[in-house]
Amino acid sequence: MTQPTLSPVPTRATPPGLPVGQRPTTPTPLIASALAKTYGTEGAATQALAGVDLTITPGESVAIMGPSGSGKTTLLHCLAGIVAPTSGTVLWRGEDLASLSEARRTALRRQDFGFVFQSGQLLPELPAVENAAIPLMLDGVPRSEATRVAAGWLAHLGLAGLEQRRPGELSGGQAQRVAIARALVGSPGIVFADEPTGALDQATGAEVLAVLTSAARASGAALVVVTHDPGVARHCGRTLAMRDGRVVQEFAAPTTAATGADR
Ligand code: ADP
Ligand code: MG
Repeated sequence: MTQPTLSPVPTRATPPGLPVGQRPTTPTPLIASALAKTYGTEGAATQALAGVDLTITPGESVAIMGPSGSGKTTLLHCLAGIVAPTSGTVLWRGEDLASLSEARRTALRRQDFGFVFQSGQLLPELPAVENAAIPLMLDGVPRSEATRVAAGWLAHLGLAGLEQRRPGELSGGQAQRVAIARALVGSPGIVFADEPTGALDQATGAEVLAVLTSAARASGAALVVVTHDPGVARHCGRTLAMRDGRVVQEFAAPTTAATGADR
């Protein structure tokens, strides 16, 4: 297995979202407090989260592991404002996600958060470069600029020359790299990845995880990744173990992985 060589991170003239002068100069963390989530109602209720406290600091990487049904996806969705917790709060840059209008939450998800799912959820009709450019185009960045930045990310992730391929013409690992480019193209504060290598063979999955963690680090985004790959601790600053809706253990990574000194 060869480690992909990452080329320089592409830059963008005009970041989407707030005008540059209005962007917060001091990045603040994501702070989740006493998060609980119950699906359904009495009798048929499932407690998916049973009180999670978690702070994600800017630029850090956190792996979340745990058996199926332990609440990992629910936690990610609550942190990202996709699902409203039953109780508890999620503060992002000082604002409680639950207090925002749906429109504001949607804009925030598009501008501040990036997502990578188990299988990329790419649009089959669009070439790789346009799939990766979608968040920028939704944000009003002109098409030429959006595809230029997206192509830069594809090259950074080892996909130079494949820009015009449609998802069906890419391997699973290549498609996930396109999904990673799409997650990073808008310079998000946090990338959430829910079992991003779950549909890949082990070697390809490990490679994609390595690319994801180093690309997030290069872009300055924090990363929260749900994975079953025990090798992930090598790439993430810390690993949380979940069970029955709670964080039951936390491991710090060896310092080389936390600082990136091994790459
Ligand atoms: P994981 O990602 O760790 O597998 P989930 O967060 O998906 O766990 O699920 C946690 C628990 O909540 C499970 O018991 C699951 O069946 C339940 N659950 C998840 N989503 C829903 C939903 N939309 N409606 C009802 N129950 C759900
Ligand atoms: Mg899940």
